[in-house]
Amino acid sequence: MRRPSYSQFAVLLISLIFASVPRASVDAPITEALVNKPLIKWHGSWQQGSLLLGQVEPGTTLSHQGQMIKTTADGQFLFGLGRNAPATSTFVVTDLTGVKTTEAFRVAARNYTIQKVEGVPQRTVEPPAGQLQRIQSDSALVVQARRLVSDKTDFLSGFIKPLEGPITGVYGSQRYYNGVPKSPHYGLDYAASTGTIVKAPAAGVVRMAHNDLFYSGGTLIIDHGHGLSSSFLHLSEILVEEGHRVQQAEPIARVGSTGRATGPHLDWRMNWRNQRIDPALVLESFPAQSPAQ
Ligand SMILES: [Zn+2]
Repeated sequence: MRRPSYSQFAVLLISLIFASVPRASVDAPITEALVNKPLIKWHGSWQQGSLLLGQVEPGTTLSHQGQMIKTTADGQFLFGLGRNAPATSTFVVTDLTGVKTTEAFRVAARNYTIQKVEGVPQRTVEPPAGQLQRIQSDSALVVQARRLVSDKTDFLSGFIKPLEGPITGVYGSQRYYNGVPKSPHYGLDYAASTGTIVKAPAAGVVRMAHNDLFYSGGTLIIDHGHGLSSSFLHLSEILVEEGHRVQQAEPIARVGSTGRATGPHLDWRMNWRNQRIDPALVLESFPAQSPAQ
């Protein structure tokens, strides 16, 4: 075998170096690329519906699909993956000197439970015509309640279950009535009798305490900071007021079957900005450090 010349060897070496750093962007300096040290460290699981806690060098800014992501002074931030999040999430990281680097992460797809129900009376499939305006104004109120991306970091404490009870509904499941897909179920449902106390899974600020939304009845929204919120649906009673702070494990409401619920249960939902995330994954990845009781 002929010995490769020095220049051939150099070309090979350089192409090997670049092949091993697919995440470095073209405008990143080569020294950075050679080190190939990931700029973002993560806690949480990379799958659809997941919440992740990221860590970057303090002072770094980052964006995802052109949207800036809020970071704390020490470089921590939240990122949420929706039910149908695409296979890759790409971030643009800008360091203190203004150098931009992109980092991409793979997102695992989940299989959601799909139920097909035939022979359902048509009136239960379509939204009631006389209520459309109310349904729209309800949803505008909810969007407004979740709009704020505050500096609070209550999510850093981790989360506890809002109550103990069997899980009767999971995130992501979807029903087809007479072949027509209904919107997926985004909550984690706990069976519990009317009047059972609901505890705050983490501290936060009450952004909505509404007794009667058309679909969700008594509805409570708690803001845990950085655009992360918990919603509690079908409540029979709300024990806290809008604008007030609640502590982790504080009683905030009572279970009910208000709105369009088939029976008493708690439906707990979570959002990160406009992404609906799975509370079950949040409990799994971020259990409270010392569960307050
Ligand atoms: Zn539910």
